[in-house]
Amino acid sequence: MAERKYVYFFGGGKADGRADMKDLLGGKGANLAEMANMGLPVPAGFTIVTDYCNVYLQQGRKFGPDVKDQGGEALRKVEQVMGMKYGDADNPLLISCRSGARQSMPGMMETVLNVGLCSKSIAGLIKRSNNERFVYDAYRRLITMYSDVVMEKAEDIEPAEGKGIRQQLEQIMHALKERKGCHQDTDLSTDDLKYLCDQYKNKVREVLGRDFPDDPQEQLWGAIGAVFKSWNGRRAIAYRKIEGIPHEWGTACTVQSMVFGNLGNTSATGVAFTRNPATGENKFYGEWLVNAQGEDVVAGIRTPNPLNEATKSEQNQHLPSLEKEWPETYRELDAIRLKLEKHYTDMQDIEFTIQDKKLYMLQCRSGKRTGTAALNIAADMLTEGLIDEKTAVKRVAPKQLDELLHPIVDAKAEKGATMLGSGLPAGPGGACGKVVFTSADAVAAAREGKKVILVREETNPEDVEGMRAAVGILTARGGMTSHAALVARGWGKCCIVGAGKLKIRHEGGKWTLSADGKTVSAGDVITLNGTRGIVYQGEVAMIDATENPRLQDFMKLVDKYRILGVRTNADTPEDARVARRFGAEGIGLFRTEHMFYGAGSEQPLFLLRKMILSNTTPERVAALKELAVFVKRDIKDTLEAMDGLPVTVRLLDPPLHEFVPHSDDARQQLAKALHISAEEIRKRGEALHETNPMMGHRGVRLGITYPEITEMQVRAILEAAAELKKAGKDPKPELMVPVTCDVSELEATRKVFDKVRQEVKQHTGIEVECPYGTMIEIPRACLLADRMAKAAEFFSFGTNDLTQMSFGFSRDDIGGFLGAYLEQGLLDADPFQTIDQDGVGQLIEMAVQKGRATRGELKIGICGEQGGDPDSVKFCHKIGLNYVSCSPFRVPIARLAAAQAALGK
Ligand code: PEP
Ligand code: MG
Repeated sequence: MAERKYVYFFGGGKADGRADMKDLLGGKGANLAEMANMGLPVPAGFTIVTDYCNVYLQQGRKFGPDVKDQGGEALRKVEQVMGMKYGDADNPLLISCRSGARQSMPGMMETVLNVGLCSKSIAGLIKRSNNERFVYDAYRRLITMYSDVVMEKAEDIEPAEGKGIRQQLEQIMHALKERKGCHQDTDLSTDDLKYLCDQYKNKVREVLGRDFPDDPQEQLWGAIGAVFKSWNGRRAIAYRKIEGIPHEWGTACTVQSMVFGNLGNTSATGVAFTRNPATGENKFYGEWLVNAQGEDVVAGIRTPNPLNEATKSEQNQHLPSLEKEWPETYRELDAIRLKLEKHYTDMQDIEFTIQDKKLYMLQCRSGKRTGTAALNIAADMLTEGLIDEKTAVKRVAPKQLDELLHPIVDAKAEKGATMLGSGLPAGPGGACGKVVFTSADAVAAAREGKKVILVREETNPEDVEGMRAAVGILTARGGMTSHAALVARGWGKCCIVGAGKLKIRHEGGKWTLSADGKTVSAGDVITLNGTRGIVYQGEVAMIDATENPRLQDFMKLVDKYRILGVRTNADTPEDARVARRFGAEGIGLFRTEHMFYGAGSEQPLFLLRKMILSNTTPERVAALKELAVFVKRDIKDTLEAMDGLPVTVRLLDPPLHEFVPHSDDARQQLAKALHISAEEIRKRGEALHETNPMMGHRGVRLGITYPEITEMQVRAILEAAAELKKAGKDPKPELMVPVTCDVSELEATRKVFDKVRQEVKQHTGIEVECPYGTMIEIPRACLLADRMAKAAEFFSFGTNDLTQMSFGFSRDDIGGFLGAYLEQGLLDADPFQTIDQDGVGQLIEMAVQKGRATRGELKIGICGEQGGDPDSVKFCHKIGLNYVSCSPFRVPIARLAAAQAALGK
């Protein structure tokens, strides 16, 4: 059997791999191969495939002879291209080992740089570079990274808080810097660094019980193994859970020749985006540091310099730009930027190193961006002719639209607010919440439903869970391109980094944040303006993001390719108007009962209670007559707001006992109105109590027992529509019967409907068109959908109840155990948020087929919560529904998801 190819070489203007081989080579490996093929200056290297990560982990973290042979051979090729030899005493090649999954997971896995430095090669590198200081700087970095990543983390050693080997080594460096009065790492002399390396090695032996390896082969394979192992590190697992990345994918490991940004003052390193990742502006945007290695920029430890003059901000305008300092190198980098954008036709996130003024490309990948940036970049690239319309529609993730509709800090309120400080605007929008200082506190507070701002010294991918839980993120150090800023931006979080004047202290077990003589403690409220990078004390008012013309244009494009209809769930004229502005093509669910909750509900609720607690039909009919006025008014207002578009009004759904009064006051008032005692009211209320109300006297069953309730509602709908028609409007009501499980229920209700329709026609002289349909929300109704369609002219899937009754999970109580199901991987997602396509999806598909077998033109929609979830929308498109219906703010998201489904994304 032929040996499997595990190792892919790149360098010297050619490569075994290509950009479309991400599944195998990971994003990093595939794009390095592509850049090498494009003739860009990429240091040679090789990638060990993602599959091998699984092999390695499954076979007890051992490398087989096959991968060792292939790796050895690739290394020899690298040596040839680079003209250096790994571990050599005269002309040593050093390498880096870096992770790279199919989908980018910035900063979530491990990297080891400067691998191959040992007693033998140190001398050689000093000779070659003529820079002893640089060599010991590289060596102390290797010892730090290697002992942390390979000797501690990969060995599953879990040190006590603050006792990790990396921290212990850093403490040695801090102590030396203090003793020597050095502010920067770069102030340390060659002798200082030599001394540090000796101290580090002693510490490694003392803490980890073994020597730091001096054999280059041991270093190489140790580092590769640790990169594979980091696929299962804590933060990588947490990130995969949040992003829904499958655990079985594995990471590739790219081994690449080192080039040095820390070779002295003619060397540098940087990270850049071909366009601004926060706003989308078509300006080359990036950060760089002289005499540094890549990790210094992305780890968020130092606040770096701006790449060019045009993108300087208030916070970094005093710092030197690459454009001004080294114009020639900048021009070369800018030309590569344009070449990459043209080649990939998308915004790229790139890493580069300048060694002795010579530029090298170390990475490129599609850049993470905010929703605003995604929209602007798609629109600009379309105008520039880089992409076509269909690609533009696919370039914005539906969930990202959410950000564009979310609040921003009110500029007027900002004027009077107390400013605490400022930093780099890493993630735009506004956020207001209570301050927490640790990731764990952010997670705990979010579980209790609190809005929190996570305040940290630096942006650190270890905080991934806390960043996710917080509504905003604020750090004292770090740049716009730090990994944590990338991640926050990818999630559309409001984020300010590098707010250097803010002092974060942890003293006597108490955390504080202070600036300008003001102090904020845990639990105090602050506000972030992530668009401008400004932090305020206390709460500052927010406003809705103003109507964005670019969004409107983009949505027009979306609708051009969309097939599935999008309606909204709305119960008030205000909601209907908002949804219409967002492009809703009607109301898919008007829940009649919502008029009995919240502001202005006192009177209708009182009358409803009067009706519920009536003991005889005449009593009930009298109460209903009074109530009808309010029902009609509400329906009429909403029909008017949706003029010309369909409005599906659902008959009263909830169990009546939900409305039974509990306060003495309310009982007294009702007793008076019904001319009975308060005690009698209490008794009648008690009689309505049910053990299992969700499966009790609700939905269609209310009208089966009390047809007069249905009668009143039908009359209200038809009269409201008739009055509007008379006034020259174009109302389009539809009547929907909830919680049905048999066609007989629909037939019985239809009789009431037909009778009232006749009466209204006679009485008003106006014939109102009103299709008659049902919700499908009980599994039995799916099984018998062919029969249901005999009486129903349309179906709407109530996937909240359908999910509840299919799983047997109570929609109100799932919170108690869902966490455990997700944690243990028993469920991939909450089925109340996204349709369970395996189970509930099958029922839906069956009902669609059966329903249309009876009635070919049957109109079918969905109005459960999942109707606004992009994956569910795509499913609805696939199975041929006519429309989805969702809350007003999710209408644009559903429109985009539907268009992408039609474009096969
Ligand atoms: C449903 O069950 O999915 C539905 C839309 O109805 P409700 O949430 O009002 O029960
Ligand atoms: Mg329901």
